[in-house]
Order: sequence, then C-alpha cells, then structure tokens
Amino acid sequence: IPKAIILSSDEMRRALTRIAHEIVERNRGAENLAIIGVHTRGIPLAERLAAKLSELEGVEVPQGRLDITLYRDDLSEVARQPIIRETQVPFDLAHRRVILVDDVLFTGRTVRSALDALIDLGRPEGIQLAVLIDRGHRELPIRADYVGKNLPTAKHEIVKVKLQETDGIDIVELYEM
Ligand code: 5GP
Ligand code: MG
Repeated sequence: IPKAIILSSDEMRRALTRIAHEIVERNRGAENLAIIGVHTRGIPLAERLAAKLSELEGVEVPQGRLDITLYRDDLSEVARQPIIRETQVPFDLAHRRVILVDDVLFTGRTVRSALDALIDLGRPEGIQLAVLIDRGHRELPIRADYVGKNLPTAKHEIVKVKLQETDGIDIVELYEM
C-alpha cells in the first residue's frame, strides 16, 4: 500500500507541460534541441516532452535513448554501479543541446554515466537534465535543470513512477521499502 500519492495523472500532465514550457523558454525555442530518455520510464517521458515541444514550437525534436542499469551489489550499497547497456542516438549531437530525461533523480550516478556516454558520442553544445521526481540524496555534484516535483525522501522510501506506456496508468506513489 502506498504511503502517499505524490502526483496524480493530471498533476503529472501539468508538470510535463510546465517543463516543456521551461525548456522552450530557456532555449528560446526548440530548434537545435535533442531529447534523450534514460530507460525505462525516462523513454516515454522523453517522448511526451518531445510531443509537447513540437506542439508548442512546430518543430520535430530528434529523440534518442540510453539504457543504463544500476547494478546493485547484493552485499553493499557502495558497489552500486551504473552499466551502459545500449545507446540509441541516431543523429549527430554536434551543435545540439541535449535534454536528458529520467523519471527519478537520486544519487546522480545514472546521470553521471549518461553524461559520459553522451560526451563520447560527439560534442553536444550543452546538456540539460529533466526529471519527473527529484528525491534527493545526491552523492555527486549533479542537479536537474527541470524538475516535475521535488520530493525529500528517506533512504528507505521508494518512489513508484507508473506511466500509461509501461504500467497502464499515470501516477507517482511513495512506498516504504
Ligand atoms: P541514481 O542513479 O540517481 O541513484 O538513481 C536514478 C536512477 O535509478 C533512475 O534511472 C531511476 O529510474 C532509478 N531510481 C532511483 N531511485 C528511484 C526511486 O525511488 N524510484 C524509482 N522509480 N526509480 C528510482
Ligand atoms: Mg531508471
């Protein structure tokens, strides 16, 4: 049973709409943007943002995806290592501003790996980070440029992000681990 509902489907839709507006405002349009989702739920979120951006600005924003899995050693928290499994970025990053999209930002380790992967692919003009939920507990000097909701959590809590595309429903809930 969830302890709390963090975002309803309407709240999620409004947060993503707001983020799309913030992206357009900060970048003065959507030309030269690219949007890259981090598996699993960053991908449908990236698709939704790209759709909103083209609705707002009338341009197609190229989309890519990164599959980065946090390998969690059974014995220790310290051994949590992000592993890049797949990179699908079928366009040139040079001269583009990349919006990296993930569902939850926690320690920052996944984003750090994503930055490495993106920089290896080419030389983007810049990289910005959009997340639906920032749950705190950063272990690296990484922050999001666009945040759906800041949610201070305890380490033993977990945030469940459910999306239509992956779970048949849009909702964010807080659970006790
Ligand atoms: P980090 O690498 O910042 O520690 O964790 C972020 C990655 O792990 C994201 O890709 C995110 O999907 C996942 N993650 C970390 N904590 C949570 C959480 O509480 N809920 C969900 N849904 N995903 C999380
Ligand atoms: Mg993830």
